[in-house]
Amino acid sequence: MAWETSDRRQRLPRNWAEIRARVLKRDGYACQFVWRNERGRMEKCGKPATEVDHINPGDDHSPDNLRAACSACHAFKSSHEGGTAARQAAARVRREVGSRFQRTEQHPGLL
Ligand SMILES: [Zn+2]
Repeated sequence: MAWETSDRRQRLPRNWAEIRARVLKRDGYACQFVWRNERGRMEKCGKPATEVDHINPGDDHSPDNLRAACSACHAFKSSHEGGTAARQAAARVRREVGSRFQRTEQHPGLL
């Protein structure tokens, strides 16, 4: 699959297949993603899950950080993690840090 880069594959633990099977079973093989529906209500996807999602992306493979996911929800989240959302968040942090520095630099002049 395109989103599953070789880098990500290397970071998965040796017993990933076992962990993955356990999470899918725990969650009843149903996708645990929650989305806002057209009426504004939060609704669980519930489609048959074939994949396991890291709730907080990274190297935390504990059951609390894992949930069953259908391929559509998982692909949607993965595409956003590596893409626009992450870039926008990084840009926001840079802007905040930048404005803070600017204020500090101006401060002596204002006194
Ligand atoms: Zn789903």
